[in-house]
Amino acid sequence: MQADPAPGSLTAPLTLSFPFTRSLGPVLGTFLTGLRERVVLGIRTPAGRVLVPPTEYDPATGAGLGETGAFVEVAPTGTVTTWAWNPAPRPGQPLAHPFAWVLVRLDGADTALLHALDAPGPHAVRTGQRVRIRWAAERTGAITDIACFIPDPAPAAPPRPAAPHPGTFPDPVTTLTAPARLDYTHTPGRAQSRHLTALARHELTGERCPACAKVLVPPRGACPTCGVATTDVVPVGPRGTVTTFCIVNIKAKDLAIDVPYVYAHILLDGADLPLHGRIDGIPHDQVRMGLRVEAVWTPGTRHPAHYRPTGEPDAPYTAYEEHL
Ligand SMILES: [Zn+2]
Repeated sequence: MQADPAPGSLTAPLTLSFPFTRSLGPVLGTFLTGLRERVVLGIRTPAGRVLVPPTEYDPATGAGLGETGAFVEVAPTGTVTTWAWNPAPRPGQPLAHPFAWVLVRLDGADTALLHALDAPGPHAVRTGQRVRIRWAAERTGAITDIACFIPDPAPAAPPRPAAPHPGTFPDPVTTLTAPARLDYTHTPGRAQSRHLTALARHELTGERCPACAKVLVPPRGACPTCGVATTDVVPVGPRGTVTTFCIVNIKAKDLAIDVPYVYAHILLDGADLPLHGRIDGIPHDQVRMGLRVEAVWTPGTRHPAHYRPTGEPDAPYTAYEEHL
């Protein structure tokens, strides 16, 4: 459940997404290669249980299973062991319309596989229901090669025993690419909301700790050293001093800025914590500790687009040595 943000807090959608590629190992690699070939493989434990999906280790004893070569083929039909209705599928889920999440014990298996069941409504789903796999038209060696399960109108056949399978295919699948994506409704809290609201007016602010008197930028609502709430809003900047910096030579995807460029810690005048900012308006190899800079906004942006030199003499080291 989503909590209501504190009064006066801003909220905004926040999406965190990144590519994720992993190697599969011999067991999951064999399982996914099988799916590509429309073959569902489980693995038989020494005690005779058939695990689908197969695992690398026997969950009962911890013994390795991948080297035993005990792959077995199970049927594309099975029985729903439990389920939950999903009335509002999210992007990337197996079906775009409402469906049931189901655990299916395939005929020949002793464990159940999690997948989607395409059914017209929750009234059409029940534990004990017979289902079968609907294969994806294009298969790549991924769990999505099973597009979903569908109700199996055929009368229940005698459960098919798992059959030994060599577990070998040409061109086996060895890696899995699974883009990760997390969608949040982000609320920064009251202190950062005050800060962000001031930034929209192109005003830089911090908050003073009532115990140690340090001005924290950006404010988090409490002093991390003293553990007390900060309530005293203090204007800072817009000028400041570069305390340390790095030259960026790797171009980030989707970033419109050419490399090399300089990213710096900037101690705004009146602040006790440096913040991050990009330095522009000076060749990258002339940026230095102590350089005096000022915030530059471009129309329509909340945060400063970058910081540029003010032309003042450099700040002495003693002016910022406590803030490195
Ligand atoms: Zn403090």
